[in-house]
Amino acid sequence: MELYNTLSRKKEAFPAPEEQQKIRLFVCGPTVYDYAHIGHARTYIFFDFFVKYLRSQGYEVTYLQNVTDLDDKIIARAAERSIKPEALAKEFSRAYLEDMQALGVDAVSRYAPATDFISQIVAQVERLIDKGFAYKIGGDGWYFDISKDEDYGKLSGRTVAQAEDGVSRIDDAGAKRNKGDFCLWKFSKPGEPVWKTAIGDGRPGWHIEDTAISEYYFGPQYDIHGGGLDLKFPHHEAELAQQESASGLKPFVRFWMHTGFLTVKGQKMSKSLGNFITIRDFLKKYPPEVLHWIALANHYRSPVDFSDELALQAAAALENLSNRYLELREEDRKEEKRKDQGTLSVWKEKFDAALSDDLNTPVALATMFDVIKDKDLSAKEKRVLLDSFSQTLGLDMVRKNEELPPFIVEKLAQYNECRANKQFMQSDGLWKELEDLGYEVRDTENGSHLVKKMF
Ligand SMILES: [Zn+2]
Repeated sequence: MELYNTLSRKKEAFPAPEEQQKIRLFVCGPTVYDYAHIGHARTYIFFDFFVKYLRSQGYEVTYLQNVTDLDDKIIARAAERSIKPEALAKEFSRAYLEDMQALGVDAVSRYAPATDFISQIVAQVERLIDKGFAYKIGGDGWYFDISKDEDYGKLSGRTVAQAEDGVSRIDDAGAKRNKGDFCLWKFSKPGEPVWKTAIGDGRPGWHIEDTAISEYYFGPQYDIHGGGLDLKFPHHEAELAQQESASGLKPFVRFWMHTGFLTVKGQKMSKSLGNFITIRDFLKKYPPEVLHWIALANHYRSPVDFSDELALQAAAALENLSNRYLELREEDRKEEKRKDQGTLSVWKEKFDAALSDDLNTPVALATMFDVIKDKDLSAKEKRVLLDSFSQTLGLDMVRKNEELPPFIVEKLAQYNECRANKQFMQSDGLWKELEDLGYEVRDTENGSHLVKKMF
C-alpha cells in the first residue's frame, strides 16, 4: 500500500503487515466546548474507515485520540453559561461520543483527555526548558522559541499562520521573541483552572497536550499522525517541533495524513455566517449513511463542498446501490446455475488496487457500480463481490436492507397474495401501509419487493 505523506509531499510505501504488524495511530480529537460539526465528522469517519481497513488487512492498530478538555474556548464558553469549565467539557465530551456512536464511528482504541496528563505535560515542558527551547514570559507563561529549531516549518512549508489555520488564542502574547512562538504552559489568571507545578501555577498549551499523550502511550516516535488540514499549521508543526526537540529523535512521526477542508456552499463553516452544521442537526435531516457516503465518495485529501444537493445526491447513489443489490437477489433466485467466469478475482484486484493507492475510496465505490454492469458475472457472483466490498467500506446500508423486520415480510406476503387474487382494494391498502412504514413497493414480473426509503 502507498500512503501520501504530508511531510515528504509524496506517496510512500507503507509497510505490509508481514513487515510491521503493529501500527500506532494518533488523530487529533475534539476541543469539547460545543457540538462537533460535519467537517469533524468527515475526518473521523475517514479515519474510522482507515483503521477498520488496516485491521481487516491483518494489522494490529492502536488508534489513540486526545480530547482537549481545557482551553480558552472552553473557559470562555463556561463563563458565558456561569458553569465550571470541567462541567462544560464533560457535557460536550459526552455529546461527542454520542455523535460518534450515531455515525457508527467506533474504531478508537483509547480516548485521552488532556487534563489526565498534566504531570506528563509538565515533564515535557521541563525537558524543553532544560534543552534551551523554551523561555518564560513573566505573568504569562512558557513559550517555545521557534528560532531555536532549524527544522521548524518542515511539515507545512511555512512558519506564518494563514486564514484557514486552526489557531488557539492561548498562543497570543505581546512579549514573544518571535511572532510564531507558541505557548507550552500558561500561567492561570484568577478564577481560571490551575495546576500548581514546578514550572508555575497554570494550565497546558494546546500543542503540548498531544505530544505528552502520544509520548506516554507510543514513545517519542510512532507511525501515523492524522487530522484535518486546518491543523497542519501551526498545531502539527508545533507538535513536531516539540517532540523532536525534546527527544532529539527524528522522525517524530513516520506518516502525516491530513483530510481536506469541508466548506458549506463555498464558505468556511462559522457560527457568524449561520452555515455551521452540527452532526446532530445533520442527523435530524439525513441518515448517517449519507455522511459516510460523502466522506468516501470524495478522496480524503480532496476538499468537499457541502450542500443539501450533495446530500441528496449521496442519498440517491446509496439508494440506487441498495436497490440494485435487492434486484440482484431476485435475479439470483431465478437464475440457472452459471459457471464462474473467473472475473471475480479481477474485480477484487481492482478494488484492492484502488484502496492500496492512498485509500482511493471514490474509485473503490465506482468499482461497485461497474460490478453491477458486468454482463459476464452471474447475479450471485455480483452479490458476493458487493457484500465483500460494502463490508470493507463500512456501507451497512446494503446489508441492513436485506433484513426486513418479520411484520414487514408478512405484510409484503399479504400484498403479493392480494394482487395474485386480484383483490386490488386490499393490495392498495397494504401498499399504503408499507409506504407509511418507510418502504416503497416495487412491482416486477417476478412478484413485488421492497425498497427502504431514505426519507
Ligand atoms: Zn491535536
